[in-house]
Amino acid sequence: MTEEIEHVKCLIIGSGPAGYTAAIYAARADLKPVMYTGIVPGGQLTQTTDVENFPGYPAGIMGPEMMEDFRKQAERFGTDIRFGYATGVDFSGPVHKVIIDEIKTLTADTVIIATGATAKWLGLDSEQKYNGFGVSACAVCDGFFYKGQDVAIVGAGDTAAEEATYLAKLCRKVHMLVRRDEFRASKAMQHRVFNTPNIEIHYNTEAEEILGDGKTVNALRIINNQTKEHQVLDITGFFVAIGHKPNTDIFGKWLEMDESGYLITKADSTQTNIEGVFAAGDVQDHIYRQAVTAAGSGCMAALEAERYLAAKEHAIIETTEQ
Ligand code: NDP
Repeated sequence: MTEEIEHVKCLIIGSGPAGYTAAIYAARADLKPVMYTGIVPGGQLTQTTDVENFPGYPAGIMGPEMMEDFRKQAERFGTDIRFGYATGVDFSGPVHKVIIDEIKTLTADTVIIATGATAKWLGLDSEQKYNGFGVSACAVCDGFFYKGQDVAIVGAGDTAAEEATYLAKLCRKVHMLVRRDEFRASKAMQHRVFNTPNIEIHYNTEAEEILGDGKTVNALRIINNQTKEHQVLDITGFFVAIGHKPNTDIFGKWLEMDESGYLITKADSTQTNIEGVFAAGDVQDHIYRQAVTAAGSGCMAALEAERYLAAKEHAIIETTEQ
């Protein structure tokens, strides 16, 4: 018996702000979008607490609640939202094949990839325990909660340098933990860090344990990996900025990516190198990585999918009329 392959006009992979916004626009344009949510419906924001920088929520909102609002709005216009994980794609033909959970195959005229990126973590038990309660992988999202307090940040790349200087504007003191005796960040970013008086750099230093009362963080035990000396820092916020991994493994054979695995889209567009395949949100953005920028590019992807389909239909009509 051959498997019946379902065909859809617009398939959205991923359910963060980019995916849901694409769904809202695509559904309202009558593209009858089908969305596969991935393993974490709602994406990275379901793992944060307060979101205070998304416009439209003057009193702030909890991340999971906001994503629930996104979901309801996408459903209201008829998006078919399904729990499932894309495990493979074949973009070799005019219609695009996507395999879900290794068993179901769909074909789609347009695919919007909104699979996001995953923050890298150190892997400490205490990091997991206090995640969202003193531990964060996004200074721009959560720095505000530590205004006037002492915090620590791990990492020495451009993100860590940028986030440390961002935190330094809000916090009393920022301890920056660099595991080697030098930065990876560009010279310009290093310069900013060196010229910020309330950032204290700890070279050759690693975080060993985040300490707290079970509910909030109040200290951090660090170790100098050369001298093996320990030190306890009084901090209330712990930021991890050691990079992100875009969720693009299954697209490797087909889509152009940069050296870190982020999908490359055309300038001012969400169009990938394959016609009818668009990428939105953190999966193609290593610079801004904000919910609101992800939502904006989700909107762009749906508009571009709609225009692509309209142009295709127009071309078919013209050919049949000749
Ligand atoms: P990077 O991979 O460039 O840097 C990661 C940093 O984290 C490195 O310093 C690395 O240390 C450190 N690190 C990794 N694992 C651990 C660990 N387990 N413990 C402690 N430290 C660790 O990631 P970024 O997110 O900083 O940058 C990603 C890309 O985005 C880069 O190309 C960057 O240039 C770009 N970017 C550009 C910006 C801009 O132009 N404004 C802003 C932000 C990012 P080590 O050096 O020892 O390997």
